[in-house]
Order: sequence, then C-alpha cells, then structure tokens
Amino acid sequence: MENCIFCKVVKRELSAEIVYEDNEILAFRDINPQAPIHILIIPKKHIGSLNEIEIDDINLIGKIFIVAKNIAKQFKIDSSGYRIVLNTNFGAGQSVYHIHFHLLGGRFFRWPPG
Ligand code: AMP
Repeated sequence: MENCIFCKVVKRELSAEIVYEDNEILAFRDINPQAPIHILIIPKKHIGSLNEIEIDDINLIGKIFIVAKNIAKQFKIDSSGYRIVLNTNFGAGQSVYHIHFHLLGGRFFRWPPG
C-alpha cells in the first residue's frame, strides 16, 4: 500500500536490518528498541491491524508465530523468555498501520504491561 512505511520496507524502498524473510513474512529490527532484542514480524501483504484480518489469513497469522519462535531461538531468548506484543489502534499504542508483531526479549518484563 502506498505511504505505508512497512510496505516500503518490504519493497526495499526503506532500509531495515532484516533478520528473516520468506515469501509471505518479513522480520526486521525495530528502529527504536524497547529491549535488547526487539524484532518486528510482519506479513508482506498489507493488513492494517488485527481488526482487518480475515479467516483466509489464518495460515499466515499462524505461521508468524512459528517464525517468532524460530527467531527467539536464533537470538537465544527462547529459554530466558520473550514477549510477543500486538498493539491494535491508538488506545493500545499502535503507530504503524500495517499489522506487526513485536518480539521482545533479553530483559525481564513486568506484568501487567503499562
Ligand atoms: P506500534 O507502536 O505498535 O505501531 O509499533 C510500531 C513500531 O515500529 C515502533 O516500535 C517503531 O519504533 C517501529 N518503527 C517505525 N518505523 C520503523 C522503521 N522504518 N524500521 C523499523 N522499525 C520502525
């Protein structure tokens, strides 16, 4: 989608430190990390937010979690622990309207989140 910064990352119009890619999914380091490991995992297809997913996206969304656990292992945070965050809409802090899963690790996380 035009003017979507994550679509631009997918199309290599914006640079990013990519850590994983396949035909449907891209993962790259967050530009403003909130933990020692902070990776964004996105579908290449433009989906604005969780509110826009459809039943046809079920395999894609499921695969994102397989990618997440593999990246957690790659970065050696699978044993210590990690958090997946999906912010939806302004009240939850969503600032980029292309669905993305934050994979955070390398430090202790409190609960409840802020
Ligand atoms: P959210 O606030 O949940 O929508 O998360 C958006 C995330 O995208 C934030 O953590 C930003 O730091 C991150 N971000 C924005 N632009 C870029 C970019 N060009 N490359 C990598 N991360 C980005």
